[in-house]
Amino acid sequence: MIAEVLVELGARNIDRTFDYLVPSNLYEDIKIGIRVLVPFGRQEVEGFVLALKNETLHDELKTIIRLVDQEVILNEELRQLGKYISDTTLSTLIASYQVMLPKAVKASKKTTINKKETTYFSLAKPLELITEETITPSQEAILEYLKTHPKAEKKELVSISTSSVKTLLKKGIIVENKEEKYRLTSTYSIEEKKPLTKRQQEVVNEIMSFQNDNKVFLLHGVTGSGKTEVYMELIEKMKEEGKSSIVLVPEISLTEQIVSRFRSRFGEDIAILHSRLSDGEKYDEWRKINRQEVSIVIGARSAIFAPLKNIGIIIIDEEHTTTYKQENTPKYHALDIAKWRSTYHKCPVVLGSATPSLESYARALKGVYHLIEMKERVNQKPLPEVKIIDLNTEKKKKTENSYFSNELWEEITKRIESNEQIMLLLNRRGYSSIVSCQNCGYVEKCPHCDISLTYHKTSGMLRCHYCGYAKRLEVICPECREEAMKNLGVGTERIEEELKKYLPTARVVRMDMDTTSRKGAHEKIITAFQNHEYDILLGTQMIAKGLDFKDVTLVGIINADTSLNIPDFRSSEYTFQLLSQTSGRSGRGDKEGKVYIQTFNPDHYAIYCAKNHDYVSFYKKEMEIRHTLGYPPYYYLVLVKIISKDYSKAQKESTKIGDYLKRNLSEVSILGPSMANVFKMNNQYRFQIVLKYKRCEKLYPVLKELINHYQSDRLLTVDIDFNPVHF
Ligand code: ADP
Ligand code: ZN
Repeated sequence: MIAEVLVELGARNIDRTFDYLVPSNLYEDIKIGIRVLVPFGRQEVEGFVLALKNETLHDELKTIIRLVDQEVILNEELRQLGKYISDTTLSTLIASYQVMLPKAVKASKKTTINKKETTYFSLAKPLELITEETITPSQEAILEYLKTHPKAEKKELVSISTSSVKTLLKKGIIVENKEEKYRLTSTYSIEEKKPLTKRQQEVVNEIMSFQNDNKVFLLHGVTGSGKTEVYMELIEKMKEEGKSSIVLVPEISLTEQIVSRFRSRFGEDIAILHSRLSDGEKYDEWRKINRQEVSIVIGARSAIFAPLKNIGIIIIDEEHTTTYKQENTPKYHALDIAKWRSTYHKCPVVLGSATPSLESYARALKGVYHLIEMKERVNQKPLPEVKIIDLNTEKKKKTENSYFSNELWEEITKRIESNEQIMLLLNRRGYSSIVSCQNCGYVEKCPHCDISLTYHKTSGMLRCHYCGYAKRLEVICPECREEAMKNLGVGTERIEEELKKYLPTARVVRMDMDTTSRKGAHEKIITAFQNHEYDILLGTQMIAKGLDFKDVTLVGIINADTSLNIPDFRSSEYTFQLLSQTSGRSGRGDKEGKVYIQTFNPDHYAIYCAKNHDYVSFYKKEMEIRHTLGYPPYYYLVLVKIISKDYSKAQKESTKIGDYLKRNLSEVSILGPSMANVFKMNNQYRFQIVLKYKRCEKLYPVLKELINHYQSDRLLTVDIDFNPVHF
């Protein structure tokens, strides 16, 4: 027997299978999709068996060394899906397979992640059959214990007597066994499910009426309209049919709350996959799924690859979120994977959002997706009242604390007194975003990247948010030697300091990348805030989505302009989404909520549409602009990046690539080459070419050719991103 094996060879980019002999002792166990260890050159590497056959064109085959696992890692569906990813993102097949798998089961020899095992003891035969005469009282006690606890762990027995355990083992009266144990444990209590509202029931019925169709639903529901409850009901219905479900959530900060809601409904029938789990935990959760021991998977982007069989529904919550697009190769979008799998399983996809992406809403209006609206909140309360504070006029007033308008400050003080909770958003971490010299204008920039450094006061360091470079803050300007370096711009750390200074009685907790780097930190902050251990939750966009706190009655956005000013054609869309989502955290319980948005651009449509909770007007306005400028959803984009440490090489090759594309793709408009927004990152120079098109048959072959051409060039990378979400 001969196996075709696909191996991971790192940078060597060899994207084809190799034939190996299957030794006869593996005939029984070898299967397509299983992981094997094979000799390759002078080393041993892991790979996946992609086919089994009896003949080969090659002679002198090497032999498979051993199987790495007993279970199939890449089932039939994943094997086809990997092919699809490779074809549509132009990545290698092996990279496309690896991206679907947790580290523990990737084909690679560098890591071994073990299964966790527990040792337990049990009776070798029923008590009545034990005829030994010399049983001591403590041995007797152990046997009695094992009668009622047929699988006792070591720690349970040592309290009785360690030496007796040994003796009983030696005599063969008891036996020792090992069993796999899953690492992740959770505590929860099952709760009575809430009866659905009329609207929720209608939505569930509508989706269920297409339960065997690969239809995509866009569930456009305002914040607090009860979408999560709809998801749970759909999943329950699928369970009744013996089908499984996948739920994607955008942020790790969100999974905690959602998972606990799901746990109290579905108990242990859930596996969780997100980046904050340890590799061991991910391995365990993945095995639970692969063995079909659970029927629900909740997780971030990569959970879309969960190897569930018989999928009944795929739900993508907050579908507009950009993290659903993978930024590294293979640059897949979870939504595309969901659609592919829904075709495979003939099941619906539900995309939920209060602020759908323009692409999705446009598709819904065209009838490509099936649009379902939920226009009211479950609690029958109106959406919170939003007030815009114009910082242009506010600035002149010169209040004591400089980042809060008088009005917002007053509201904060009032809520603190009445024991209500507050959420404050500033989408920028650190203390100050720019450190510059007041004398000569020198700005502290990263020596490796083309961006200014952010000051982090807690550590006293200036940091680059791209590459992690750090240096101490100094008061003397390195350029003009004046003592005039000053912190400008504001980040969450500074806001926290200000709140503590002027509102010493308020209990403030900050949630951003700096305070949540440790495992479990998100959960801690969220639980503590939920339990009223804090009055104010201050954070970056991390706090904007999905969180459900009943007692938050005030939301303040310190500066709405941070996202408006990013150089990206989607900046208005991101701003509208961020403001709407954050506003949606207010007034979710019995008390009505209020929102304050501080901005220098009160007349910007992204801001006033968010104020009016008016998605449709925003959509129309933004679509006009996209139409005029020829951006998505009217056109598709491809971003080609040319990256090299060698500046002149990058420049020269960019021009060549631009010419090649212009020559070969006449129906595509080709912009550039130009310098990327962050021109230098990690000491690499980055040029970019943007392709805009509506339809182009030749696109894939022409780009594939380009990739092949530069594949073995060690000094230059050509990186292709279809439908990029960030520029
Ligand atoms: P969304 O996901 O649309 O923001 P949620 O599903 O989180 O909305 O619902 C908002 C709040 O209303 C939650 O606290 C939820 O527990 C509650 N809720 C949802 N549906 C019902 C219902 N049918 N009966 C009572 N409370 C509900
Ligand atoms: Zn840097």
